[in-house]
Amino acid sequence: KNVDEISLKDIDQAARSSFPLCMRHLYEKLREDHHLKHGGRMQLGLFLKGVGLKLDDALAFWRAEFSQKVGSERFDKEYSYSIRHNYGKEGKRTDYTPYSCQKIILSNPSTGDHHGCPFRHFSEENLRAALGRMGVSGRPLDEVMDKARNKHYQLACTLTFEAIHGVSCDTGVNHPNQYFSESQKAWKS
Ligand code: SF4
Repeated sequence: KNVDEISLKDIDQAARSSFPLCMRHLYEKLREDHHLKHGGRMQLGLFLKGVGLKLDDALAFWRAEFSQKVGSERFDKEYSYSIRHNYGKEGKRTDYTPYSCQKIILSNPSTGDHHGCPFRHFSEENLRAALGRMGVSGRPLDEVMDKARNKHYQLACTLTFEAIHGVSCDTGVNHPNQYFSESQKAWKS
């Protein structure tokens, strides 16, 4: 199967195996709350587009969650536009690109937001717990925490990748979609 494409039924599996922490967090919050604020919808939505989720699947995906919270009518009225917009189907028809790590790290999430980079924006306690849920523990966990504390967020993410996949990531993590494709490659080899 083409690694550059993902369909609706594969998202859960892909999220568990190959999403970087920033996207896992957004994904889990969306599943839990059936809602994400604007910053989170942009960060996750464009990432999903980047991993190859087609517009129709994207609409179905967001609709299934949001309709549990705000109802499908309100979703169609208020939220579907911005998803179509991300895919260049509305407004200026710009084809928006997924955010890089640098952009995400420099974002400014406030209370109730779930976007941003967990290595920068989580409390130490929350970061530790989230990494534990990803299966990072022991010495690798301490090393990741150390990098994050010293503001080397992308390095912390790279070490997380290496701990989870058991292979080195020589280029380092610089983009969530790059993390995703490196992960898919690693699981296949
Ligand atoms: Fe996401 Fe990049 Fe932060 Fe990793 S370093 S969690 S890919 S923003």
